[in-house]
Amino acid sequence: MILPPATLGLLGGGQLGRYFTISARNMGYRVWVLDPDPDSPAGRLADRHLLAGFEDRGALAELAAHAAVVTCEFENVPAASAEWLAERVLLRPDPGALSVAQDRIVEKRFLQDAGVAVAPWLPVEDVDAARAAVPDWSFPAILKTARLGYDGKGQVPVSASGGVARAFRRLGEVPCVLEQRVDLEREVSVVLARDPDGRCRCFPVAENAHRGGILHLSRVPARVADEVRAQAEAVAQHIAERLDYCGVLAVEFFLAESGQLLVNEIAPRPHNSGHYTLDAVTVSQFEQQVRAVCGLALVPAELVAPVAMLNLLGDLWPNGDAPDFSRLLSRGRARLHLYGKPEARPGRKMGHVNVLGVPGETDASQPVRLAETLWAELRAFETEGVADG
Ligand code: ATP
Ligand code: MG
Repeated sequence: MILPPATLGLLGGGQLGRYFTISARNMGYRVWVLDPDPDSPAGRLADRHLLAGFEDRGALAELAAHAAVVTCEFENVPAASAEWLAERVLLRPDPGALSVAQDRIVEKRFLQDAGVAVAPWLPVEDVDAARAAVPDWSFPAILKTARLGYDGKGQVPVSASGGVARAFRRLGEVPCVLEQRVDLEREVSVVLARDPDGRCRCFPVAENAHRGGILHLSRVPARVADEVRAQAEAVAQHIAERLDYCGVLAVEFFLAESGQLLVNEIAPRPHNSGHYTLDAVTVSQFEQQVRAVCGLALVPAELVAPVAMLNLLGDLWPNGDAPDFSRLLSRGRARLHLYGKPEARPGRKMGHVNVLGVPGETDASQPVRLAETLWAELRAFETEGVADG
């Protein structure tokens, strides 16, 4: 076990890292964050912020020299850096898991080898492949860059095979996957933690609604049959086992109208759809990450009350000014989280709010309604703010 006051290293300084830092420091650990952004949400709360890029060998060496274990809050750590670090310090999850999650082609091949169902897809790695792409399934489809996509960025819808080459050019002719568009019944996700001995704990399944390719609202419990819930958990655990994973892992699923459960993608870190655990579960995904990478016992993750998690995007900050949170904060069931980002931009995740329902109830409709009301109130402010000047 890695015990406090050991130093934990963190690659990435975003909001996911901010909560990891808070959890770790709460438990008496020291946290060193590596991130090139001087205003990074986690860097501001860390014991030490190594202000450097992820390829900076000097900074990586400092992290390796001081940290008892290093983990990540974002998957796009260059493979060479991850491997270099792993030769010098415990890196959890390991470079193999990171490399699977950072490339959609590698990820889909890995999932299929593991016997996990994914949407029909084709690799499109060059112009010739783009021109020749005639899958044996039907369109519409989505062309997605294999690397570095997030929040729906790096994706172009394609309605027929003739459009693949055009979409490929629009995406900059980088390696892509062509993925069939699934008729969705719902989207759900499973966040789990796995310790160094392979013991696993799943968080309750979340149901996720997106707007404009970005997560808008998660509700827990998800409105799915018990068998679907059990299947999602089993698939997520199977993936973690195949990766011999240590840390927190998120698995995003499509529940197709046909009833089939398909894996969309995996994230080797805590996940936006797991933010509800900060207020509605006996342990947060971030404390569980600390516990998993340090080899402590994982906490049984039990839902305390139904919950709706609403993302607060920069669109709600007209002219860069914070919205009026007075109505939101006058409700005791609405728990506000802001990430301390100094600059708001449309689509940028600035914070979220967890709206709690009544403990013991099994349905999240009431917190979902309140979350949507709060969102409408904040947006009313957004248009007022714009009108005022
Ligand atoms: P994030 O960072 O939010 O996870 P991302 O950029 O990695 O997003 P995806 O998860 O691939 O992108 O897609 C974002 C959303 O777009 C999905 O959650 C889903 O709502 C929709 N989507 C993506 N691919 C498909 C598909 N094949 N069929 C139907 N909907 C899709
Ligand atoms: Mg996704």
